[in-house]
Amino acid sequence: MAMETTLTSKPDILVIPWPATSHMIPIVDIGCLLAAHGAAVTIITTPASAQLVRSRVDRTAQGSTGVTVTVIPFPAAEAGLPDGCERLDHVPSPGLVPNFFDATSQFGVAVAQHSRAMAPCRPTCIVAGMCNTWALGIARELGAPCFIFHGFGAFALLCCEYLNTHKPHEAVASLDELFDVPVLPPFECKFARRQLPLQFLPSCSIGEDSLRELREFEMAVDGIVVNSFEELEHGSAAHLAAATGKTVLAVGPISLSGAPGLLDSRADSDDARRCMAWLDAKKAMSVLYVSFGSAGRMLPAQLMQLGLALVSCSWPVLWVIKGADSLPNDTARWLRENTDADGLPESQCLVVRGWAPQVAILEHSAVGGFVTHCGWGSTLESVAAGVPMVAWPFTAEQFLNEKLIVDVLGIGVSVGVTKPTEGVLTGARGGGGEPKPDVGMEQVKKALNKLMDGAEAEERRRKTQELKAKAKAALEHGGSSYMNLKKLIQFAV
Ligand code: UDP
Repeated sequence: MAMETTLTSKPDILVIPWPATSHMIPIVDIGCLLAAHGAAVTIITTPASAQLVRSRVDRTAQGSTGVTVTVIPFPAAEAGLPDGCERLDHVPSPGLVPNFFDATSQFGVAVAQHSRAMAPCRPTCIVAGMCNTWALGIARELGAPCFIFHGFGAFALLCCEYLNTHKPHEAVASLDELFDVPVLPPFECKFARRQLPLQFLPSCSIGEDSLRELREFEMAVDGIVVNSFEELEHGSAAHLAAATGKTVLAVGPISLSGAPGLLDSRADSDDARRCMAWLDAKKAMSVLYVSFGSAGRMLPAQLMQLGLALVSCSWPVLWVIKGADSLPNDTARWLRENTDADGLPESQCLVVRGWAPQVAILEHSAVGGFVTHCGWGSTLESVAAGVPMVAWPFTAEQFLNEKLIVDVLGIGVSVGVTKPTEGVLTGARGGGGEPKPDVGMEQVKKALNKLMDGAEAEERRRKTQELKAKAKAALEHGGSSYMNLKKLIQFAV
């Protein structure tokens, strides 16, 4: 990438990812992109995540030259967590989430000591993951601006800002009553409280003190970095800037910043090679890719309904299943008998139990549709690859993203789920009683047909392709994301 060298002093940016896999992927890539634009970048990580970070940095020639990866021990055991539990998605039970927050606070003390010791090459700007509230203290001590990276899109952040300010969710009589979140007129945005991100639910495992601290942090930072591009979210980034009074910089889609089709070492596995070889044998735009993020699981009964729809539909299916090793015997047997794990070219349903090379899969010409949980990373990767979606939100801000995908952008079909998925990290049911799937096989098939067939499907595909072109242009020289990266670097000069 060509560099403009108008900077007067060397910007030195400290990137501190919030330790959760799907947060680390984009923030580390943003660090590499900042290095490609001429900044010196230090990425802070922990021993158990060092390989993940280094493999992403090594994907880019620019990254490996301009980025330093600094590994600081994470006090997991001291906080009562299992050894090596250094990412939120490694926490074995919701009861240990507060311990994880304690450990990250202690980790913050060590990062502060490290940043003091970095003199005379002290950071001139910090980009911190959304729960690293202690990063603000470090920035103030250094006299450097502090930007927050949430991992959410601008529309979801705008909705959250409205919810924080106007609190419509506190005025409803039940978790199912719909209320307005009128952030993007003329689009009608109605949600039920149970569909909101965790901090707006009546009970949240993070705890009230931590939630207050998180809100204070996001209100005190100097700006917000978003993995998105200005042309995508109908002016949400500008509305967010107006609502918060902060600089909002959309610098994505970050998935387009690596070399096309290049896999990080985590994805350069047997599973990854099987996926790509299997896709190579399929017709253009014929494959449905089905995946629910870095950790998302369904209850076995729900998984079966999805599976029955997938094996009986007319399209080849590439299906990523997390937690497949802990499925009950009958579900595991059904999967073995009805799907293929070997990736034989002629098979119709390939199941991947490990880590799939998602960006490369979405960019493969054989992929025609994506059944997604609407995590923001997946959503944006799908947009960047020009692939329309079936929206099946699980939790967090995913119902907000579904609204953007289906109603605002018109590039997706809703599967029709109205409640968050139970046991999303464990695949286990909270309460007792017979597990009942929320979405039946026929309902899934209806959504798949709508996504893949007919005039509306064509129109959705056309819109997605249009956004794909805009996404690419945003990162090119002079594009909106390119200019926003330059602005971010200016804050560090
Ligand atoms: N991902 C991947 N392979 C997998 C599962 C996930 O590469 O098998 C990546 C995906 O490309 C995305 C991230 O993990 O970058 C998932 O982020 P998202 O925000 O969609 O969902 P989350 O994991 O936060 O629920």
